[in-house]
Amino acid sequence: MIDTAQSEMAFALSVVREASLLAQRIQAGMAVRGLVKSDLSPVTVADYAIQALVAHRLELAFPDAVLVAEEGSEELRAPEGAVVLELVTEFIGKAFPGATAEEVCAWIDRGAAEPTKRFWTLDPIDGTKGYLRSGQYAVALAVIDAGQVELATLGCPNLGEHCTPDLLGLGSLLAARRGEGAWVTALSVDDDPFLPLHVADRPEIYDARMLRSVESAHTDADKIEELAHALELEAEPVRIDSQAKYTMLAAGQAEILLRLLSPKQMDYKEKIWDQAAGSLLLEEAGGRITDLDGKPLDFTQGRRLENNRGICATHGPIHDTVLQGIAQVGA
Ligand code: AMP
Ligand code: MG
Repeated sequence: MIDTAQSEMAFALSVVREASLLAQRIQAGMAVRGLVKSDLSPVTVADYAIQALVAHRLELAFPDAVLVAEEGSEELRAPEGAVVLELVTEFIGKAFPGATAEEVCAWIDRGAAEPTKRFWTLDPIDGTKGYLRSGQYAVALAVIDAGQVELATLGCPNLGEHCTPDLLGLGSLLAARRGEGAWVTALSVDDDPFLPLHVADRPEIYDARMLRSVESAHTDADKIEELAHALELEAEPVRIDSQAKYTMLAAGQAEILLRLLSPKQMDYKEKIWDQAAGSLLLEEAGGRITDLDGKPLDFTQGRRLENNRGICATHGPIHDTVLQGIAQVGA
């Protein structure tokens, strides 16, 4: 059973729930405004507001905690960021009355820490493009200790009952602790029970349902098709944004999740906050995750998985077969 009294778990569940509901409020209340980062990826009021919220709550709860998070305040502090900063400060002011723009920027920048032996990692809005198009996105918070993900929480506002896509449902709140299990509860209801998560019981490869990114620039769509053909998968790959994919795999809604390298960015290294929470959730639900070469994910290499290449995640029994297929098609 999940131990929600354990202080880090209690904190993580409460702050991820608060952050996910904030993301929904920001989305509902306005045309989501944002900025474009130096790598040309989008960032919204919600990305910044959630990072500020989680960073400051973490600082209050565990003053010595180290936070490694996706966003920084640089673009917000530039003249083009003024309108977005004002909006972020307004939203944060509802949680922390009187918070100033300067404080908000400083809280966001707590996430610039380099990983230490034990640290927290946050993706405030994983799947920002999904968030912008009202698709799937996730608030992802995890604790890593000596290279192992120990605790994971994910808020998925657009995954409903049984962790299937549902834009009008109660949302899903997921949690896992290494060695203890993975659980799901309703995001928008405070006292719903936590139910254990298990991967699907589908041992046959032809039966496997595959998940991939919506964004073609984040993967290799042609090679995915080639692989699906080589593995004789009967179902078409399903496109889903963010770590909601791991949630669906952990909940038995799919069997394969691939992050093949985009031909335009063959040297891409996964960011730790994009994989930490989802990987533990999947493992604790009984699944397997490696890189495309079958190597375990190495979380000891700073802010990125420098020693890994892409991701291969499955519900388990078919993992080696999928890795063989990946090698066969040269992905
Ligand atoms: P997804 O929703 O599966 O497309 O994954 C979203 C994540 O992909 C974002 O959080 C980005 O950090 C990450 N990303 C950005 N560029 C790339 C890339 N070229 N290859 C793989 N992932 C990427
Ligand atoms: Mg992300």
